[in-house]
Amino acid sequence: MGILEKIYDNSPIAFQNFMVSVSGYQRNKTRYGKEYYDHLNFLKDFDTWSLKEKLNYQKKELIDFIQYVKENSIFYKELYKDIDLSLIKEIEDLKKLPVVDKEMLRENINNVTTVPKKNAVEGHTGGTTGKSLVVLFTEKDMMKRMAMLDHFKARVGFEHRKMKRATFNGKHIVSPNQNKKVFWRYNMASKQMIYSSFHLTEENMKYYVASLNKFKPDAIDGFFMSMCDIAGYIERHKIELNFTPIALFPTSETLTKSGRDLLERVFKCKVYDQYASSEGAPFITECEKQQLHIELASGVFEHYDEESNEVLVTSFTTHGTPLIRYRIGDSITFNDSLEPCECNITSPLVQEIQGRKLDFLYSADGAKINGGNIANLFKNMPNALIRAQTIQDTPGEVRILLEVDKRIYKDEYDDILRNEFLHKFGEKSKVDIQHVEEIPREKSGKFRMIKNNVKEVNFR
Ligand SMILES: [Zn+2]
Repeated sequence: MGILEKIYDNSPIAFQNFMVSVSGYQRNKTRYGKEYYDHLNFLKDFDTWSLKEKLNYQKKELIDFIQYVKENSIFYKELYKDIDLSLIKEIEDLKKLPVVDKEMLRENINNVTTVPKKNAVEGHTGGTTGKSLVVLFTEKDMMKRMAMLDHFKARVGFEHRKMKRATFNGKHIVSPNQNKKVFWRYNMASKQMIYSSFHLTEENMKYYVASLNKFKPDAIDGFFMSMCDIAGYIERHKIELNFTPIALFPTSETLTKSGRDLLERVFKCKVYDQYASSEGAPFITECEKQQLHIELASGVFEHYDEESNEVLVTSFTTHGTPLIRYRIGDSITFNDSLEPCECNITSPLVQEIQGRKLDFLYSADGAKINGGNIANLFKNMPNALIRAQTIQDTPGEVRILLEVDKRIYKDEYDDILRNEFLHKFGEKSKVDIQHVEEIPREKSGKFRMIKNNVKEVNFR
């Protein structure tokens, strides 16, 4: 645990709010500079282009990106050494390049990246297979990604940093020893109230709802399941909300129809989905007509093979740790209809995003710890983790199986993991970390990071 976290955990809540805001201002500096505003203006204009113009732009970006990567990444230079890159003239020609998977990146990460760590913004990913990977973004790419997200929200009326947002995320904002029922902190830098997604027990819900009613956010974003938990509570207890957000922007988890309906019913506004990963995948966003669009300025999606819907991504905002034909592990069904969307933005449509499973484990006091948060347990193990699995047979007790790269794994990583676990699951929860040669796969051949063997739990 870092010194700042120690100070944070032992500070009063008012000072924690201050620390959250200071870190918010610092983060904003790397996110909202000239490149951000330039790209935001570009994207506004790009929306008005014809499909043909957009596809031409995408093609040009692709060729430039591949050239940059070949010149700057040792790994890709070696991978492409027998390929004549001048033959890549169309999007279709991408097929001439080999597929890259997560294990290839992890093993070669130092040769993949093109920028020194000190000049980059880090992105951590646990991912759905529990493989840890640290990717680097150039500051310029990070700003472009932020512009893309904010532009998506602005299209449906939410203006980032001008309006108030409530966020349910995986940040550790509540100290393990806190007794007060205050499960949120304010990041002044982004007019953002951050709500802990680790303390959403039936008993605590009323405090969350009261805080939302007081804060009156213009938008709510973050973990889908956390939002659904809150909405379910509000509906069950017939609580009157005294605010109506402009929009809800869930992230990190696959949306369900019933959950979406619940959110729209309770908050009386629309839900807008998005696809973008911490590795830096290109974007898919939902428009005002509630259709999913591929953001052609951000990269290329292809299917891995004819049968599956598994995708390969090539992302133009990954100059730091380049992703070209990267097997990200998510499945997406494209919509081949040529009918233009009523929103007037011409770009290919997506039928469904099937990636990102809706799995969770129970903490000792009955909170559901969702898949995104469980994946994040592993994000601080610098590229030394091959695979991890979390298994629960009894609420509040979790067995973690680890398959590690023994050459670089350090014993203290177990302690980091244990500490992360206690922060997320609470001190009453128990964890048992076991190192194994190989984690068995499911009968289907699929790997599951989360195995919840607890069927139905009634904690009340
Ligand atoms: Zn549309």
